[in-house]
Amino acid sequence: MSDYSELKPDFNKGLLTAVLQHHTNKNVLMVGYMDEEAFRRTCAEGVVWFFSRSKGRLWMKGESSGHVQTVKDMYLDCDSDALLVQVDPQGPTCHRNTESCFDLDVSFTLRDLEDTVRERAENPEEGSYTNYLLTAGTDKIAKKFGEESFEAVIAAKNSDKEELANEAADVLYHLSVLLYERGVSISDVEKVLHARHMKKKNFKGTRRDVEE
Ligand code: AMP
Ligand code: ZN
Ligand code: ZN
Ligand code: ZN
Repeated sequence: MSDYSELKPDFNKGLLTAVLQHHTNKNVLMVGYMDEEAFRRTCAEGVVWFFSRSKGRLWMKGESSGHVQTVKDMYLDCDSDALLVQVDPQGPTCHRNTESCFDLDVSFTLRDLEDTVRERAENPEEGSYTNYLLTAGTDKIAKKFGEESFEAVIAAKNSDKEELANEAADVLYHLSVLLYERGVSISDVEKVLHARHMKKKNFKGTRRDVEE
């Protein structure tokens, strides 16, 4: 990826570059272009529209595949020629049926877990373990969390890395359910961690720091 002749530079006249990013795990999903109409429809309808340079027309992402990109948030860059669109994709974003158009190591975060737990809580599913835990309540969830933590301790002592990773996943999952059930968001936890981190390092304040 270093040969410029392999790239297809486009001095996108009148078009806004739009980067689609997954709203929870922050994976970069896709890049497309918007003209004014695509931008207007995206804002009005809450799903991503592009101007397709190859098709030469407006294009709602997912119009044939059904993999519509629901808009969660939008940010303009510093010089107003690029848009970061945080989305909740209704299926794989790439037409190759991969999550991302970039073959990156996709991440899965506590926010994804939080999202999944919230989805289950709002739309209960028959036989769902998450729904079972939420119905059972705080004591049951906390007990399971404690048990899984203990299993992680044992796994750490056994020095089997795969087993430890598995138990750690159990711990994080049960912690996510517990936090959700108690009304504490991952963002609340991140704020605490961030504040502690800032105390130790003298970073130049980001906008977020100024606001908070
Ligand atoms: P869709 O908008 O998902 O219904 O896809 C319609 C067509 O747009 C596909 O058949 C592809 O040709 C093209 N397409 C869809 N998604 C992408 C993408 N992420 N990158 C490039 N082309 C795409
Ligand atoms: Zn820019
Ligand atoms: Zn793609
Ligand atoms: Zn376990």
